Amino acid sequence: MSNYSINTKCVQAGYTPGNGEPRQIPIIQSTTFKYDTSEDMGKLFDLEATGYFYTRLQNPTNDHVAAKIAELEGGTAAMLTSSGQAANFFALFNICECGSHIVASSSIYGGTFNLISVTLAKMGIEVTFVSPDASEEELNAAFKDNTRAVFGETIANPALTVLDIEKFANAAHAHGVPLIVDNTFPTPVNCRPIEWGADIVTHSTTKYMDGHGAAVGGAIVDSGKFDWMAHADKFPGLCTPDESYHGITYAEKFGKEGAFITKCTAQLMRDLGCIQSPQNAFLLNLGLESLHVRMPRHVENGLAVAKFLESQEKVVKVNYPGLESDPYHELAKKYLPNGGCGVVSFELAGGRQAAEKFMKELKLAAIETHVADARTCCLNPATSTHRQMNDEQLKEAGIPAGLIRISCGLEDKNDLIADLAQALEAI
Ligand SMILES: *Cc1c(COP(=O)(O)O)cnc(C)c1O
Repeated sequence: MSNYSINTKCVQAGYTPGNGEPRQIPIIQSTTFKYDTSEDMGKLFDLEATGYFYTRLQNPTNDHVAAKIAELEGGTAAMLTSSGQAANFFALFNICECGSHIVASSSIYGGTFNLISVTLAKMGIEVTFVSPDASEEELNAAFKDNTRAVFGETIANPALTVLDIEKFANAAHAHGVPLIVDNTFPTPVNCRPIEWGADIVTHSTTKYMDGHGAAVGGAIVDSGKFDWMAHADKFPGLCTPDESYHGITYAEKFGKEGAFITKCTAQLMRDLGCIQSPQNAFLLNLGLESLHVRMPRHVENGLAVAKFLESQEKVVKVNYPGLESDPYHELAKKYLPNGGCGVVSFELAGGRQAAEKFMKELKLAAIETHVADARTCCLNPATSTHRQMNDEQLKEAGIPAGLIRISCGLEDKNDLIADLAQALEAI
């Protein structure tokens, strides 16, 4: 499908039924697969043949959907995970081990920040966080001999900063390591990080890709461009024999295009599980079929809401890269020419109390710990996700007590604005 536009790929990539086969991707609700001879099955265990033997590692439903996501991102291989958290963990742990070091943008999702700074630290993997606005010199200074990956988010959740993907990719490549980009917020419809130099792309498919708040999931896509063998000393897991697979060397046997995902499936999925259920993969694919139709509407609503909020006296500040006043507008024009996403954050003048009252007054926008859904939802970090912090600590973390994150859904923008207007009136 590689010659078709991304719109067509959203609908049809990943699965082409044969004569008389189901039009929709079948849900292969089976833990296991049957073989005629032990020899046939043995070939699968030796990675000599491709096929399925146990759904903890691989399932045909998932692989159709992963193949679609690989095509959307312009990658060579992909896999689905049980969540976005699992996708980022697997992507990093596939090339990092005890004693490795990661350079990561400090402007990332809180869950990923904890994963890297707390859980990976317990496994002996250290991190240097850098500002997403770091200069080339500052970036280069963050690398160490044991650096194995660079990590960032195209549009950060919830800070809404835009990553200078080319700058981060150049720094990573100058130090012989890949750039991993979490592309959850823009989705490949609005940005394809591989085209700007990213090597591995991850997703929380829970967000826009699913788009209906129906299924938690994640995905990892390999660009197939990073030359592991050229940096074999840094990536022994890919470039030296795997004793747990009869001495296979992934980068030799599966090449640049296939090594990363094959190792991640054969080793990490085998040992850690965390695969997406076939049922969830099916639901995810329903979301993907309309992703190209939904994203422009999320962007349209996000921009309209951001512009409205910016014009309001009771609103101190609005963060949305699509606004000309936003510090990330220039980067957004470069990397997100069709817009980024529907998530907007803004600060109310009256702080925590005003935020609480305002959200209670909203009728269409529900209070939820979620974003990127067809229905508009909102959250005040100070009274929810960051509740343990006092106002002083919140200020230091760059999350003012009156900050509200609103994820604009697919409703009519005039209804959304009217809802916001009446709630502003009430405070
Ligand atoms: C939500 C999110 C995650 C985590 O994904 P889950 O599916 O909730 O595990 C990771 N990265 C970003 C950017 C997210 O928005």
